[in-house]
Amino acid sequence: MTEKDLTTSGKLYGKVFIEGKIISLTGLHIGTGKETMEIGGLDMPVVRDPLTREPYIPGSSIKGKMRSLLEKFEFARSGKDITPESYFSKIIKSGSEEIRHHECDNDNCPVCRLYGASKGNGVKKNRPARIYVHDAHLIEESKKELQGIDTGLYLTELKYENTLDRLTSAASPRQIERVPKGAEFKFSMVYNQDEPKDSALFKKDLESIFTNILLLEDDALGGSVSRGYGRIDIQKVKIIYRDAEYYTQENKKEIVLEQGESEDLKTFLFERVIKELTK
Ligand SMILES: [Zn+2]
Repeated sequence: MTEKDLTTSGKLYGKVFIEGKIISLTGLHIGTGKETMEIGGLDMPVVRDPLTREPYIPGSSIKGKMRSLLEKFEFARSGKDITPESYFSKIIKSGSEEIRHHECDNDNCPVCRLYGASKGNGVKKNRPARIYVHDAHLIEESKKELQGIDTGLYLTELKYENTLDRLTSAASPRQIERVPKGAEFKFSMVYNQDEPKDSALFKKDLESIFTNILLLEDDALGGSVSRGYGRIDIQKVKIIYRDAEYYTQENKKEIVLEQGESEDLKTFLFERVIKELTK
């Protein structure tokens, strides 16, 4: 196997934890994927934790949005010879629909380095993901605040939306449940470092993750985004770096970096964090 065929070194040099707050700037609807028209029920309920019944943002939703944004971003930078059909060559069946996205064998591909790839559709081997995105739950203060608003629903609100029939102008109202504007969630993700600190690949991965976070902040999460739902702000980002030594008995060194109160997210991530973690 040549250097070029490698998709991971198989080594673990350390872990980078990325934490912070996701603040909803507008109502946020993360659906359950099972929209029903129950009598007396909600047409479009939000996803809730089965134990606490609290609304949350599944890690898979955040990761899915992040990957899709990074794919489009990298496709735009991949040169004009590459067609959409060849870039988005992976075909995934979702019910009766076919969804295309990007997966490849190129070890320098930022998307597949972070999120992995699976065999098939021209991809020769399975590639592990280097990043894991966790579920984002409501922070305590936010929960208390939402409990104080009387909407008849636990921590959420109902919004009525009208869809107009273009020919008859008949309105068909539906109820969308959403987490109100201002709700705050704690997000976290972890990156597994399989290349040494001074390697160009480690630095490149960090840059891809940070670009991806900035793209997410300027996009939206969940459903009805064309109606203005799901706008978010990412704040108070904290990076914790633990190298392999941290996990041994003798040593407990970790690097903790926190975004300053008035520090711009981009400056914090690209200047301060990259410099500290790769030196
Ligand atoms: Zn790829």
